[in-house]
Amino acid sequence: MRVYLEFTGCRLNQSEIETLARQFASAGHTIVASADEADLCVVNTCAVTNEAGRSSRNIIRRLNRANTAARIVATGCYAELAPQTVAALPGVRGVIGNLDKDRLVPIVLGEGVPAQAYDREPLEREPLPGALGRTRAFVKAQDGCNNRCTFCVTTIARGPGRSRPLADVVHEVQALVAAGYREAVLTGVHLGSYGHDLGLADGLPRLVHALLEHTDVPRLRLSSLEPWDLSPNFFELWENPRLCRHLHLPLQSGCDATLRRMARRTSQASFRALIEAARAAIPDLAVSTDVIAGFPGETDAEFETSFGFVRELDFMKLHVFRYSKRPGTAAARMAGHVAEEIKKARSARLLALSDEGAQRFARRFVGQSVTVLWEQVSGATPDGFVNSGLTDHYVRVELVAPEALTNTISTVYGAGLHGGVLSAALYPSSAAN
Ligand code: SF4
Repeated sequence: MRVYLEFTGCRLNQSEIETLARQFASAGHTIVASADEADLCVVNTCAVTNEAGRSSRNIIRRLNRANTAARIVATGCYAELAPQTVAALPGVRGVIGNLDKDRLVPIVLGEGVPAQAYDREPLEREPLPGALGRTRAFVKAQDGCNNRCTFCVTTIARGPGRSRPLADVVHEVQALVAAGYREAVLTGVHLGSYGHDLGLADGLPRLVHALLEHTDVPRLRLSSLEPWDLSPNFFELWENPRLCRHLHLPLQSGCDATLRRMARRTSQASFRALIEAARAAIPDLAVSTDVIAGFPGETDAEFETSFGFVRELDFMKLHVFRYSKRPGTAAARMAGHVAEEIKKARSARLLALSDEGAQRFARRFVGQSVTVLWEQVSGATPDGFVNSGLTDHYVRVELVAPEALTNTISTVYGAGLHGGVLSAALYPSSAAN
């Protein structure tokens, strides 16, 4: 069978779709690059905002238009929360909820359901070389969340927090390295709580330590971490240079009153102290964050407080979300919903701030050495291939070189900045490894 897979939403969704690709491939099926070649299309949907739900529906409609003969199976948060809407979309032959996602392949193949409890990642997650042709693999270490942030539908869609056994994650990364991947990105809905359900109070530091100790992965990156999960000594892990100097710490608002309504377990003071500790411990650390524009009750004064705090902390990137009312959440029932045009205006100011921060952060590498994992060739010039990649701080770099460097790591010289992208030059002795 030929299988096409697509996702929308977060890195966890990406890691799951990559895992499904490996599972279909290991069961003898062929992963294809477009829906019109497929017998089966699998879509991992997202429900984090209304827009994400709309995008999930649009993907399904697009796949059906591309190939009316293909079966479509939908899974993920939107499929979990709106199964009847999804089942009624054209071409959909199956809707599989999040708790059954790890059994999706045997369910779809009609092989029946394995007997194991499925709250511990029952399926083998043996990766296959180049299943999706990437240099960077997303590795799911954890799912679900026990917090109750009042805007968040993810915790309803994904259930309580649960972690994969540490040895399983180490084994997966070892196999990814053997398959040629150069970077592993640890993902989870609430990654900072990794291991709590397994009785490990310091689960995430232990996991990171084990991955650095027992695998040869050249780069290890951590995805989003809630700020209250980290202690200052967590940053000692960065003594190992294989750990990427990039932290994504969701703030959501820089105003304490808004944070309390969001039920976030952080404040201006504690967040500032955390960032200061991180920056003191990790030179050139890139810190990005999430900010919600127009949370219910966010007055102009609250927004200005939040905006000023976000500017003060000088993030290298902001992921800006316009507040979106999600059914079943406490925030949806709050008074003081903000008009769409006000949300749009606040969001535009935050996005402009994000662009300024990204430029400022990248500019510090002009005239410096940077080490880049080359991801792809994005074009060609008379002088050679345009290689595109990322530093460990997540700065985009382009280098024109006589050869394609994809999936190698090399140290180059930051020559200039164009539209937020660092243009690099080779050192005479610079060699890809
Ligand atoms: S920590 Fe809050 S925002 Fe993050 S998944 Fe849990 S409930 Fe949602």
